[in-house]
Amino acid sequence: MGEDVVVRVAGLAMHFPITSGLFLQRKIGLVKAVDGVSFAVRKGETLGLVGESGCGKTTVGKCVLQLYRPTSGSVFFEGQDLCRMSEGQLRQVRPRMQLIFQDPGESLDPRFTAADIVGEPMWIQGKAQGPAYRERIAELLSIVGLAPYMADRYPHEFSGGQRQRLGVARALALEPTFIVCDEPVSALDVSIQAQIINLLDDLQQKYGIAYLFIAHDLSVVRHLSDRVAVMYLGKIAEIAGRDALYQEPLHPYTQALLSAVPIPDPAVEAKRVPIILKGEVPSPINPPSGCVFHPRCPKAFGPCPTVVPVLADVSQDHQVSCLLYPPSWPPSAPP
Ligand code: SF4
Repeated sequence: MGEDVVVRVAGLAMHFPITSGLFLQRKIGLVKAVDGVSFAVRKGETLGLVGESGCGKTTVGKCVLQLYRPTSGSVFFEGQDLCRMSEGQLRQVRPRMQLIFQDPGESLDPRFTAADIVGEPMWIQGKAQGPAYRERIAELLSIVGLAPYMADRYPHEFSGGQRQRLGVARALALEPTFIVCDEPVSALDVSIQAQIINLLDDLQQKYGIAYLFIAHDLSVVRHLSDRVAVMYLGKIAEIAGRDALYQEPLHPYTQALLSAVPIPDPAVEAKRVPIILKGEVPSPINPPSGCVFHPRCPKAFGPCPTVVPVLADVSQDHQVSCLLYPPSWPPSAPP
């Protein structure tokens, strides 16, 4: 494993059983929420993880943090496989891996003051003692752009953007090296979204934190991400450096997602033809055979319904899971 890698995920799968009968003891199927996902996040970088609702991206984030114990696969954090650790061992590691939630209104306990919310991780770790504790709360509030005098206010006294700043301050309390940001701006007004993204960017520059930034929209992750992974139905469709992915998307699904992202140049925007995908995202209970994208893919050809593509290198730091690109399929396949 490269020394600059903070998190490496290999062959991650999370299958939830579907049960029926008295006491729900009979297993009648599986929801394959995540099915064979691999990626790495390097020190101080942001990996954007993008896909439609229900594609498994939030489940990936929870598996990485071991909030769900994966069905199979490995999650290496700073070189140690979290999936092989006991709960006691995980408690030692957890302060360095944190989560920022989607909806700051729902994730903050309304009975707690801002100081309680930001300080709770320190209580849990037994680091909430003496005047240094209050000083650390004030410091964390000012790091995220809130005034220290706000420490005694309750969540309802803050705006949506300020509540998300509280969520960020709480995530920073134990000086993590890695944060999963689970759609941290999707519940906020567009005007506030840029402020939170800029705040996360500044914190990364200052503290060298690595982010897994989950979003359903490619335009949201563009500014912050160094690399971007696109997920579809529990699998990674494509993963690449930001510029390569936005300028030369290879997977037909990435191409369709990007075709829906507005371009600020009206002349270019007027000439673009959006790619409309047919049908709905299939159920992860009974995913399509072969390439899981084939029923909706505008470029599907002969082997797509039967051959499962693998995520393979097409160039340096650019991987795609599509039979159009060798070595997923013999070079004699149609272009
Ligand atoms: Fe489309 Fe076939 Fe590529 Fe899947 S493997 S994305 S169906 S062309």
